Amino acid sequence: MDSDTLQVFQSELTCSICTKCFLDPVTIDCGHSFCHPCLSLCWEESQTPRSCPECREIPEWSDFKTNIALKRLASLARQARADHDHSSEEQICVTHQEAKGLFCEVDQTLLCGPCSELPEHAAHSHSPIHRAAEESREKLVKRMRTLWKLREEMKISLNQEANNTQLFENYVALRKAMITVQYQRIPLLLHEDEKMHLEALEQEAKEICQQLKGSVFTMTEQAESMREMYRELTEMCHKPDMELLQVRKEDPSSERETVF
Ligand SMILES: [Zn+2]
Ligand SMILES: [Zn+2]
Ligand SMILES: [Zn+2]
Ligand SMILES: [Zn+2]
Repeated sequence: MDSDTLQVFQSELTCSICTKCFLDPVTIDCGHSFCHPCLSLCWEESQTPRSCPECREIPEWSDFKTNIALKRLASLARQARADHDHSSEEQICVTHQEAKGLFCEVDQTLLCGPCSELPEHAAHSHSPIHRAAEESREKLVKRMRTLWKLREEMKISLNQEANNTQLFENYVALRKAMITVQYQRIPLLLHEDEKMHLEALEQEAKEICQQLKGSVFTMTEQAESMREMYRELTEMCHKPDMELLQVRKEDPSSERETVF
């Protein structure tokens, strides 16, 4: 593919939120497509109702399925980009003078064909760099979908817990009003008792409220850290193949054959 065609091809497969190649792309009601993680995070952060980041139309559905055709094209676009970028820094095996096109998952290193057939690698599975990276992205995306679902459930419990706190506070206010009414019917002498009664109630209510608020606080923090984790995973998935695979740096004394 010449570089003009490549550019057009890639721009069509670019998410307008992250300006990177689509990751787990979803198409919303208006027809616009975005990375599912980008859309989830974008909607999570906006205060306004969920609308399309491009045309502002409000979608009726929010449980989006992966657009499989777009996902395949995006993977091709990533590959084209990787071929384009890495052809200049392709690593050549010193022993066999062949390009290292395979990734060994066990050793986290790159291998050439003949190297991958050596006895020490016999029990490993090796796949082309781009495929290995795409498989790794796929696994991460699956975990991210689960993580986001957990987070949504957590937010529901969080709302319930916050509601419970509010209900409890209303209940305490009502109890106080009732105590005051009860003491109004009895002689003034006993008003010291009323004070004690109210103080005991307040003390008890304070403790329970603190517990409820503590649990709301903990859950809020957990939801927050889940979102951060989700964001980090999204960034990781968007990294170039080699970075995503975290290819181990070779010992420079034995391998200095990077060809420029
Ligand atoms: Zn995106
Ligand atoms: Zn739209
Ligand atoms: Zn080799
Ligand atoms: Zn191996």
